[in-house]
Amino acid sequence: DAKRSGAGSIACFDAAMDTLRRKRLAIEFGFAAALDAGAFEVVYQPQVSLATRQLIGVEALVRWTHPTEGPISPALFVAVAEETGMIHRLGAFVLERACRDAMTWPRPITVAVNVSPIQFQTGDLVAIVERALAVSGLAPTRLQLEMTESAFVHDGDTLRASFDTLTGRGITFALDDFGTGYSSLSHLTRFPISKIKIDRAFVTDVPADETSMAVLRSVMALAEGLGAETIAEGIETEVQARVLTDLGCRQGQGFLFSRGVAAPAIAALMRPEPAAAVA
Ligand code: C2E
Ligand code: MG
Ligand code: MG
Ligand code: MG
Repeated sequence: DAKRSGAGSIACFDAAMDTLRRKRLAIEFGFAAALDAGAFEVVYQPQVSLATRQLIGVEALVRWTHPTEGPISPALFVAVAEETGMIHRLGAFVLERACRDAMTWPRPITVAVNVSPIQFQTGDLVAIVERALAVSGLAPTRLQLEMTESAFVHDGDTLRASFDTLTGRGITFALDDFGTGYSSLSHLTRFPISKIKIDRAFVTDVPADETSMAVLRSVMALAEGLGAETIAEGIETEVQARVLTDLGCRQGQGFLFSRGVAAPAIAALMRPEPAAAVA
């Protein structure tokens, strides 16, 4: 009856909670050692021109295969690292690795690195970025920092100062997962953001879903008004690519083009140089 199936669902829910709790503990306790052992890896997902399919940049995505838990989603271990404070060490590692890897590629494409709001609010992000640039020799204009809207919610002097210092050096900012967060537009006018990344949630069901289409139209108009570039995340089909192109979006990222790949595979994509590069 209803009561019994209710109890069953609760037992099932409890089991799922236990699994998650065990996983979180495994992440928490293995984290520092994994960083020391070089167990974290960084892959790079191509960002392409929707018109030409040419590679224009990549997004760095961190990967971790836990010794007992297997591959863990960064969405989960980044959240744990934010709670424990390990995000500062992880963030510094990814930034430095991404800058060093970008220096091995034959063409000077942009490398976008995800930055946690915690790094921006309580860490010395400017110093960490400067160090990654210094040890790698990467030109600051090749580095883009991806942040979600939540990073801009606590708009204090520290945030403003860090943002101004970094943009002053030529580093650009992309607003990640746009449309899923706070959707307060005020930060868009207060902070000059170079690129808006349209979240996959609004890409998946085009063109059938009218709500997605309406959101996409308004985001495109907003971006144009702000003079920001747009990139659509999570493009998996040719239909999605075409619809986004028709809406005026110039750049795309998604499994249709490529998943995240190791740094040498990005270099391989660039060789040989296209015979007739765009003038
Ligand atoms: P994100 O920054 O929005 O990254 C895009 C995510 O979408 C990546 O998942 C990517 O693999 C996935 N994706 C790309 N194209 C497609 C597609 O066509 N279809 C589908 N279904 N998914 C696609 P991933 O690598 O699992 O990362 C998840 C999130 O974890 C990222 O979302 C980002 O918020 C966070 N993350 C990843 N690496 C880092 C990092 O180095 N630092 C920080 N702070 N966060 C990171
Ligand atoms: Mg991102
Ligand atoms: Mg995103
Ligand atoms: Mg995301």
